[in-house]
Amino acid sequence: MSLQQKPALEDEAADVAAFRRSLGQWLGEHLTADVVAAGQEGYDEGDNLEVLRRWSASLFEGGWAAVSWPARFGGRDAGVEEQLAYHEEMARAEAPGPVNVIGVSNIAPAIMQYGTEGQTARFLTPMLRGDEIWCQGMSEPDAGSDLASLRTSAVADGDVFIVNGQKTWNSLGRFADWCQLYVRTDPDAPKHKGISCLLVDMKTPGIDVRPVRTMSGDLTFSELFFDSVRIPATALLGPLNEGWRVAMATLSHERAGVAKLHLGLSRRFDQMLRDARHSPRLQDPVCRDRIAALYSEIACMRWTTTRDLEALGRGTAPSAAGGSGTKLMWARIDQELGELAVTLMGLDGLSGRWARNLTSSRSASIAGGTTEINRNIVAEHGLGLPREPR
Ligand SMILES: Cc1cc2nc3c(=O)[nH]c(=O)nc-3n(C[C@H](O)[C@H](O)[C@H](O)COP(=O)(O)OP(=O)(O)OC[C@H]3O[C@@H](n4cnc5c(N)ncnc54)[C@H](O)[C@@H]3O)c2cc1C
Repeated sequence: MSLQQKPALEDEAADVAAFRRSLGQWLGEHLTADVVAAGQEGYDEGDNLEVLRRWSASLFEGGWAAVSWPARFGGRDAGVEEQLAYHEEMARAEAPGPVNVIGVSNIAPAIMQYGTEGQTARFLTPMLRGDEIWCQGMSEPDAGSDLASLRTSAVADGDVFIVNGQKTWNSLGRFADWCQLYVRTDPDAPKHKGISCLLVDMKTPGIDVRPVRTMSGDLTFSELFFDSVRIPATALLGPLNEGWRVAMATLSHERAGVAKLHLGLSRRFDQMLRDARHSPRLQDPVCRDRIAALYSEIACMRWTTTRDLEALGRGTAPSAAGGSGTKLMWARIDQELGELAVTLMGLDGLSGRWARNLTSSRSASIAGGTTEINRNIVAEHGLGLPREPR
């Protein structure tokens, strides 16, 4: 009943199959058990961060840190099929991706598109090797879904900007060396027009990082406070007041990254069945029904993603639901998996990894765009329904 089926290699183009084999062989030679464990436990435990940094450097040396990146920046110019093969092989081997998950997937594309030669030369390699960790400072206490309402200000003063304000829900903030920070540089312009993006050294005096403990017990997030922080004008990424366009440049290379969502769910589904193998609840008809429903939903997500990626490969439009529809499916399945695992495990599920999974899965319908916002996008852009009153 495993969802982690072997790909049909005979259906694959020869070059993609060779790419897959080459990665599989490299992983066989380099991936160790401590790296797999660190990837599963997360940055918070012991010296996992250092283990994962070393793993990132190793991926970089092997040319496997970001296959979708252009070759001149350390990638492989991989097409959609190769990217998909990459994610499948990495998931099968339970290999963690680069430690700098936000930097590599979200920030680097913006630096490639809008950065000066000096900025691309300075930042991309240390980011990809995991030598410098990046966080993304967008959300504020009063600006989340409506990001364009952000109020953290940057006032030009000679060759520096003076930054004041507060960011919140900042993933990796307490580990970060650099922050891609969105600030208001023109308070009089319409709200989408007066935003700029700065690349900020987190060691700059006046930045206070305060970790926030979540209900899972970990310190996933931080709040960032900026008190008259002097940031050099050369830190500006893209044109002044065009930060909204910079924010939209995210994910321009990583087209197959969406496959990571169903691959992660498949892995956890299989793990849940292994851990619950002695549970008497496996005989319960209601539980069996929920297991079958979950299996079907993950399989549906897999086929929807595969169909969308094939459409991308052919240069045609993906399904009406697009990325927002996939995010909606993922969030719902992730939360059902969290709840079902604890039901199956009984008392054993109330501590350890499944308890942690249950609580952390609540964030799935908030992170990266809330469920309500994504439903609006599917309704308005996918289905052509009337726009929500604004
Ligand atoms: C795991 C995780 C990691 C994160 N990492 C980062 C990070 O690294 N950097 C960063 O800047 N931010 C990060 N965030 C913050 C995240 O981007 C915001 O939480 C998200 O954008 C929602 O904003 P908010 O929390 O302010 O909620 P709000 O926008 O205030 O929304 C509150 C509620 O109102 C609903 N709502 C809002 N507007 C509408 C509307 N127009 N129609 C219908 N319903 C609406 C929402 O769906 C939600 O239920 C992270 C969040 C999580 C959970």
